[in-house]
Amino acid sequence: MTKPVIVIGAGIAGLATAYRLAERRVPAAVFEATDVVGGRMATLRSNGFSVDSGADGLLDGYRATWSLLTELGLRTEVVSLRTPTAGVWRAGRIHVAPSSLFGAPMFTGLSTSTKLGSVRLAPAVLRPARFDQVTVADMVREVGGRAAEELLNYGVEPAIRGLFGWDVEQSSAGMVLRILGAARGRIRLRTYRDGMDTLARELARRTDVRLGAAVREVRPDGAGVAVVTQDGVMHPAPACVLAVPAPIAVRLTAGCDVHPFVAAATYTKVACVDAYLDRPMPPPGVYGVTFPSVDEPVLGWAAFESAKPGRTPVNAQVVRLAATGAFGASFADDPELAHDTLLARAAEYFPGLLESVVRTRPHYFPHGLPEARADAQPLFTSFQSRPHGPVEFAGDWTSIPCSEGAVRSAVSAADRVAEWVGRSSS
Ligand SMILES: Cc1cc2nc3c(=O)[nH]c(=O)nc-3n(C[C@H](O)[C@H](O)[C@H](O)COP(=O)(O)OP(=O)(O)OC[C@H]3O[C@@H](n4cnc5c(N)ncnc54)[C@H](O)[C@@H]3O)c2cc1C
Repeated sequence: MTKPVIVIGAGIAGLATAYRLAERRVPAAVFEATDVVGGRMATLRSNGFSVDSGADGLLDGYRATWSLLTELGLRTEVVSLRTPTAGVWRAGRIHVAPSSLFGAPMFTGLSTSTKLGSVRLAPAVLRPARFDQVTVADMVREVGGRAAEELLNYGVEPAIRGLFGWDVEQSSAGMVLRILGAARGRIRLRTYRDGMDTLARELARRTDVRLGAAVREVRPDGAGVAVVTQDGVMHPAPACVLAVPAPIAVRLTAGCDVHPFVAAATYTKVACVDAYLDRPMPPPGVYGVTFPSVDEPVLGWAAFESAKPGRTPVNAQVVRLAATGAFGASFADDPELAHDTLLARAAEYFPGLLESVVRTRPHYFPHGLPEARADAQPLFTSFQSRPHGPVEFAGDWTSIPCSEGAVRSAVSAADRVAEWVGRSSS
């Protein structure tokens, strides 16, 4: 019997890849290090709470995700958020962010002249490739004219950091424009009724998933590969797909000849604390608030889980407090101090918060979101046209840096593997 292709990682990319391989009549087994599926789209359930540990939602323009949901009969599992837009904190209050690019001139968080100047950014969406190697900050400086500085500090920077955890001085403007294009310019968040892991759980039900199967190494083995698990067992396979963040893929494929983009695909670290409260807290009218880093060096973002219908008990609330990129690094050095500092900062904006906290749960993602650095974009382009081989890749870093990118990557990974396996067996 033909040995299955081994997919490493049961995040949404790995599970969707295995599903797409089955469609192409290529048997696949998914090896997952932890004892749950979903990766950065997992959901934690306890005492009536269903709290997403990573991704919060999906956008209407997530074409690959919606088509997979349709195939699996899951479209009705997606619900609107009670307050689907986010806000920016400026001058003592929340300013509701526009839910579409066209709404930018109405954003009250900017002065009138800067609001008008923001329309200069709109044509850039039509030519993302022009800005691939330009950082987000440089693009705003280039096209924003006199509005550039305020637009960057109080519009673009908080939005980009809130959405991707990115440093605007590093990440590619072209990539942001592609994501906006994928979302058709509309940022209106939806979520799953029963948790962001809904799609992963359904895919896992249809797939051969081996939990607690951490992979230690991938080695070339004849025309195929040998996948070595943590227990030292070697699993020969015609091909494998590394559906893990790029820095993990680099470590696992140290003995293989892989494209240099794999090493250049860096990730931002994301540190946050979920604060469980024993009262609902007045609804802020937005799903989440982002804090411009020119004014706030510690707290990057606060999100209110009760905006997701049915996920928190009626008389409770969970507030997710995310650190800024710079402050997030301190979670690795002194997690207790970083946790207390983050909560104390949040209490400055949300009076009474500390008194209502009954427990907290910290999350630290060493590989939070692909950074899509402007200087790595030439390698990204050549990675897209790399030759086929027995070691393949999937995940958000191989496409656009969000869950939609992970789902999209599954189609191309499955196509490439099916072709390779077909070629090497004939
Ligand atoms: C805080 C946060 C908020 C986010 N919010 C959103 C959002 O609202 N909307 C959105 O679209 N995207 C969001 N994202 C991004 C989204 O979560 C990711 O793009 C997507 O989940 C990536 O899926 P993946 O399968 O590529 O990777 P992952 O989900 O990271 O899956 C990789 C899997 O591989 C496993 N693994 C790792 N090492 C090994 C090994 N050695 N052996 C076996 N298995 C291994 C991991 O345990 C994991 O299950 C967010 C991310 C974070 C961190």
